[in-house]
Amino acid sequence: MDFQLTSEQRMIQDSVRRMVDRDIRPILNAHDSETPLPKAAMRQIMELCANQGLLSARVPESAGGAGLPTLVYGLMMEQLPPVVTLAVLGQEVTVTRIHFESTDEQRERLLPDLMSGSKITCTGTTEPDVGSDPRSVKTRAETDGDDWVINGRKMWITNASICDVINVTTSVGKDDEGLSRMMRVVVDREVSPFEAREIPTLGLRQGHLGEVVFENCRVPKANQLGQVGDAARILTLTWLANRPILGLCAVHMAQAALDVALKYAGDRVQFGRPIGSTQLVQEMLADIATAVTTSRLLCYYALSCIDRGDRGNQVSAMAKRYAIATCQRAVSLAMEVHGAMGISRELGLEQHYRDVRMLPIPDGTNQILTLIEGRELTGLKAYRS
Ligand SMILES: Cc1cc2nc3c(=O)[nH]c(=O)nc-3n(C[C@H](O)[C@H](O)[C@H](O)COP(=O)(O)OP(=O)(O)OC[C@H]3O[C@@H](n4cnc5c(N)ncnc54)[C@H](O)[C@@H]3O)c2cc1C
Repeated sequence: MDFQLTSEQRMIQDSVRRMVDRDIRPILNAHDSETPLPKAAMRQIMELCANQGLLSARVPESAGGAGLPTLVYGLMMEQLPPVVTLAVLGQEVTVTRIHFESTDEQRERLLPDLMSGSKITCTGTTEPDVGSDPRSVKTRAETDGDDWVINGRKMWITNASICDVINVTTSVGKDDEGLSRMMRVVVDREVSPFEAREIPTLGLRQGHLGEVVFENCRVPKANQLGQVGDAARILTLTWLANRPILGLCAVHMAQAALDVALKYAGDRVQFGRPIGSTQLVQEMLADIATAVTTSRLLCYYALSCIDRGDRGNQVSAMAKRYAIATCQRAVSLAMEVHGAMGISRELGLEQHYRDVRMLPIPDGTNQILTLIEGRELTGLKAYRS
């Protein structure tokens, strides 16, 4: 067992960090931190990330992707600003889902623009009445000649308001148990127009989280992916790596919080001595550092289990739930180390505090992840699927 990154892994991380400092931060800084980026700016960021293989990480090289081990993908994603992590993950996971069990014709037609970032994409599963239980999706796909006709609404979809292409989880009816028979359809906005709008939220405000409305949206049947009934399996397979990567996004914020808290604790003097020399401030710093290290290691471990081919359900759920909860507390503690300065907009910790609060929700809430762990431990299901 070796807990050190290889020199190659460190070089890859450095390369992403350099790209962030040189190319991505200037784009983010040129725009209001509280407003979704213009589409052109997000596309520019996507294209930069594509150059590093981040938009096609899970697509094999033989199919034109980067074919990265998921651990390496996670190491790279950890270096990105959180708002970029969410946008890139939404894009890359959609690329992966389209790649899975599609035809050669579909891959050749759909994937190059998405893997290069020249088109923006997303996956729409969640609906106003359907969240943790995707087998209840109501967005209907009905057959009509050579088209599917789609009606329904999707909500809380990353990248939705600026997307060119959306991978939609639809229902084509119910099975014997009354659950949706789910089908995946790719909707190209130019060919099959639909409405999308941004939903204002607490954090990650330069990103895009939106609602999509399909009203008699005609989609060529050539855009149906895989088989009716495979949607839940494909979603689950891709959530496995997404979860620790979202955990690493929280680690990124907790590490940034630790760095500023350590400096402040050394500089700030009260009662005639640096606050960092007091035992209670040291306790806060020790708790933050422990959160960063344990969360990071657990997320790396979960990703390496997936790379080894283990069934990663339990550890992937554990990594996301633990890392995000622990790093949320760490960011809050770092604010406490700063006293009033901690809540100032000038310092930036309040933005991490809002951003990290967004992360427990996508790809499995804390409660759903707990139930996945429980099911894996006991072999007994506390919820349906
Ligand atoms: C930043 C962000 C990005 C997102 N990106 C996407 C995206 O790209 N595509 C997409 O389709 N969706 C996306 N979502 C939506 C996300 O997947 C859903 O919000 C999530 O699945 C939870 O659904 P819900 O909000 O409807 O909550 P609900 O499912 O209604 O849950 C409400 C509460 O009840 C709890 N609960 C539900 N069922 C149980 C149970 N059986 N036992 C115990 N507790 C339970 C939940 O844990 C939660 O606390 C995103 C959300 C966020 C915040």
